[in-house]
Amino acid sequence: MSRFANALAERQPDPGGRRWVFVPYDQLTDGIGVLVRSEPSDVGIVLVESPWKGSRRPYHRQKLALVLANLRHFALEQAERGVAVRHVVARGPYRTALEPLARELGPLAVMRPAERELRADLAPLVRSGGLVEGPHEGWLTTRAEFEASQPKGPPWRMDAFYRHVRRRTGLLMEGARPVGGSFSFDAENRRPWPGEPAAPTPPIFAPDEVTCEVGELVEKHFGDHPGELDLGSLPATLDDANRLWRWAREACLTDFGPFEDAMSRASSGLFHTRISGLLNLHRLLPARVVAEVAAMDIPLASKEGFIRQVLGWREFVHHVHEATDGFRDLPGGAPPVAGVPGDGGWSRWADRAWPGTGVAGGLDGGACPSALDTGRSLPVGFWPDRPTGLGCLDRVVADVWREGWSHHITRLMVLANLATLLGVAPRELTDWFWIAFVDAFDWVVEPNVLAMGTYGVGPLMTTKPYVSGAAYINRMSDYCADCAFDPRSDCPIASLYWAFLDRNRDALESNPRMGIVMRSSAKRSERRRRRDRGVLEWVWSVLDGGDRLTPAAAPRHLEEE
Ligand SMILES: Cc1cc2nc3c(=O)[nH]c(=O)nc-3n(C[C@H](O)[C@H](O)[C@H](O)COP(=O)(O)OP(=O)(O)OC[C@H]3O[C@@H](n4cnc5c(N)ncnc54)[C@H](O)[C@@H]3O)c2cc1C
Ligand code: SF4
Repeated sequence: MSRFANALAERQPDPGGRRWVFVPYDQLTDGIGVLVRSEPSDVGIVLVESPWKGSRRPYHRQKLALVLANLRHFALEQAERGVAVRHVVARGPYRTALEPLARELGPLAVMRPAERELRADLAPLVRSGGLVEGPHEGWLTTRAEFEASQPKGPPWRMDAFYRHVRRRTGLLMEGARPVGGSFSFDAENRRPWPGEPAAPTPPIFAPDEVTCEVGELVEKHFGDHPGELDLGSLPATLDDANRLWRWAREACLTDFGPFEDAMSRASSGLFHTRISGLLNLHRLLPARVVAEVAAMDIPLASKEGFIRQVLGWREFVHHVHEATDGFRDLPGGAPPVAGVPGDGGWSRWADRAWPGTGVAGGLDGGACPSALDTGRSLPVGFWPDRPTGLGCLDRVVADVWREGWSHHITRLMVLANLATLLGVAPRELTDWFWIAFVDAFDWVVEPNVLAMGTYGVGPLMTTKPYVSGAAYINRMSDYCADCAFDPRSDCPIASLYWAFLDRNRDALESNPRMGIVMRSSAKRSERRRRRDRGVLEWVWSVLDGGDRLTPAAAPRHLEEE
């Protein structure tokens, strides 16, 4: 028997006479739903561990460990307080494990899963009555609120939604007016980080025997999966979650706002809170973090900035995902859907096919919109230990495979920016993010990458593509100081940016938010445009070959005219 099974058996109460609830892997809380309203002795929970799900994509080992360690500790914590726990391992889709349990225990209650992929898996069991779905009480806003905030329907805008929710909740409001006179202080929050105040160091956790066993299991059964496994940085118990959140409040939130967009070699996270993984598993509840930050005595720009991320962006992307059925139902028509999950380029990196789980359980590989009609493969340089020579990209990619995480601006303005400038297929980049990040689940990674990061669904959710050249990266980070290229002269990203604008002229010219840059692009001489295109083709050929870009090997196109 495993150490976990032993520990569970020691705590397990008498399972008789209980109402049973299926708790999905990302609803690990007793702060909402049936668990918060029931006496522990009246309720039993079913927890399913699924190596099948873990093998659908080559997920980062840290992500597998985070989910498994939290699920197992949640099981122990619930048994400890008197809730009966049925812990099972699924060799196939979740419903294959749940069907016999529903027959044995009676219909299982479940809060509507956040992930579409899990909803699709469970749908037959919901139809047959084996599962009885209720609302997911972890969300802070309803679909009706989302729709009321955007009465004309799509395109949807986060700021309209956020203002609506602030007014409805009264959060950071003085009557009808926002505290401080503005709903957003973003304009004050765009400072590069000069090296002080000192960046906080995230807490280290002491893995107990249950977490260590999860680490061994991940190493043994998911050996083909990439990414470093670091149990010391993995919050696994409820105490760990509370400790991370205390650290975030005490060490990060005061300076969160001003340096929100900054990037640095000295700290992968700067003043970001790193709580997304735990929020998405519901080890920390969104309602709690919003309420506690609202009550903190910190500068308004930081307070509002943080609350906007959770109450605004996090809720908004979830609604867009639901409203579009995971981007399968778009105003311009239905995009193609992948038959099987993509591996984000793993097979090119590992030089063999990802075994995966193929077409199983009627689950597909996700929608493949591409508003800019791009379809290139993701360079292997996005995978571990294959540097591209682009200092910013290599730094952030290394951070991701070390930590399973990077902060918002490195995701948007380095990773997604570079992939978009290179014309990578939005689906392939989305799959890569889904695989590489500990906090990635379809409802959050698809809106952020398909819509925000790549402009893959056009202006449906964001007003313009988030692309930039080397000047932005140089202004907001210290990456360029450690790079073989110079952002002011030979950095290829500058040309990639102009080449992007040039080839997407028809799609972007009429976009009012792109007016200035499109006019500058139009003024570029024919010779410069040819050079931009030449640089793009050089970068494509080097990175597609898995090689490294160097200034010395750059073609003459790179020379300034
Ligand atoms: C290309 C791209 C991919 C992303 N993929 C994911 C993902 O897979 N999972 C994920 O949780 N977030 C994703 N995000 C959003 C955001 O980058 C992360 O939530 C954030 O970096 C997590 O780190 P943190 O907890 O330190 O966040 P903080 O900066 O401290 O912000 C606090 C919280 O706000 C929420 N939040 C902020 N922005 C967003 C957003 N755009 N969407 C949803 N929640 C948001 C998160 O829950 C986060 O924990 C992505 C963003 C981009 C641009
Ligand atoms: S010089 Fe260019 S490639 Fe190098 S870090 Fe700066 S922006 Fe990135």
